[in-house]
Amino acid sequence: MAIRRPRRTEAPPTAGLPPRWGDLWPFAPRQGSLERRAAAFIGADEVQAECSGTAALVVALTTLHRLSGRRVVVVPAYTCPLVAIAVAHCGLELRLCDLAPGSIDFDAQALARACDRDVLALVPTHLGGRVADVAAAVALAHAAGAFVIEDAAQAFGARRGRVSVGLDGDAGFFSLAVGKGLTTYEGGLLVSADASLRRELRRTSREIVPWRPAWELRRSFELLAYHACYRPSLLRFAYGAPLRRALRRGDPVAAVGDDFPLRIPLHTLGRWRRNVGARAFARWPAFVAEGALRARRRHARLAAIGDIDVLGDAGDANGTWPFFIVRMPDEATRDRVLARLWGEGRGVSRLFIHALPDYAYLRDVVAPADVPNARRFAATTLTISNSPWLADADFEAVCSVIELVLQERPGGT
Ligand SMILES: *Cc1c(COP(=O)(O)O)cnc(C)c1O
Repeated sequence: MAIRRPRRTEAPPTAGLPPRWGDLWPFAPRQGSLERRAAAFIGADEVQAECSGTAALVVALTTLHRLSGRRVVVVPAYTCPLVAIAVAHCGLELRLCDLAPGSIDFDAQALARACDRDVLALVPTHLGGRVADVAAAVALAHAAGAFVIEDAAQAFGARRGRVSVGLDGDAGFFSLAVGKGLTTYEGGLLVSADASLRRELRRTSREIVPWRPAWELRRSFELLAYHACYRPSLLRFAYGAPLRRALRRGDPVAAVGDDFPLRIPLHTLGRWRRNVGARAFARWPAFVAEGALRARRRHARLAAIGDIDVLGDAGDANGTWPFFIVRMPDEATRDRVLARLWGEGRGVSRLFIHALPDYAYLRDVVAPADVPNARRFAATTLTISNSPWLADADFEAVCSVIELVLQERPGGT
């Protein structure tokens, strides 16, 4: 069943909003700015645009540190390496908290142990569009005089009840990077439900984020190139070819783009790119809704496969669906599925390769830690794209490979 020949079309690993040339029109959109449209979409009074999700986190951490003087930031042991890099950038101290088994949430006991009087902020993270338990983090944090920053980089549009993620904590941020949905190539949105904290966040941004034309020029060209290449017929060159090269040399960190630079560029998000984002916004709410419908069908198909776990929403959570996170029974089985499907153009990939302490290039940023659940999550999960460009037949082929590999397992049914 291995399909070693690259396919003519290539599904991206996440559901990015297909760009349109009309988005690039240089003048201000009549329908309102990116910030206003984003605020209306999530039901906030206002949002603050930054040059990346990481930059938004840096602005939030810098602000809260100025307000409280504390230095420890508690983050999930399995999250985007950029989060650890942002904490180091701010000169703050990283403290990892293990996940609950098989979950994106903090382990409750580990979090209670981690949350002492030195803690500046807890960072619950809505990975892969799933809605994390923010209420538990808020209760612990506020009892200890700490803040909560929701990392909603991968969850723009996710809600609990009618309230958008990002607004239950003290502050929250979304990413507008390539691959996270609506994109300005790089970009981020910073939110807070607290008007006085919002003033402080804006003040920090004015103080530490300069206008840097060279960066803006670079990002503008990157956004143009993205518009040219983000289509099924070209993704096999723009995305698939470098992916397959990285896999051939046995470098999974490069394959998923986990190899981030240790320096975080801080600059304002330029007006043209904000206008491009504002125009793309016209299609975003419908895209999120269609993605949720497609995900409901496909989630049911995946869930019907025994012996695996597909992360979903519980209670009143209503997440977004950039991709499915699938937990396999063990690492060997996961790797057998990947051997057949990763790099085959059918949207199968991995999220972050390692728990944070296990990235060699982060050794000056992340101290060793005993985080078995995060390690197991990294070792046993794979992702399946929820891109509209992943055809039903290709999705079905992915399901068949998973079923076959499970059957071939010693003792498999
Ligand atoms: C992508 C990501 C970030 C950083 O966002 P950028 O816009 O890429 O800087 C932070 N946290 C998580 C969980 C992410 O996936």
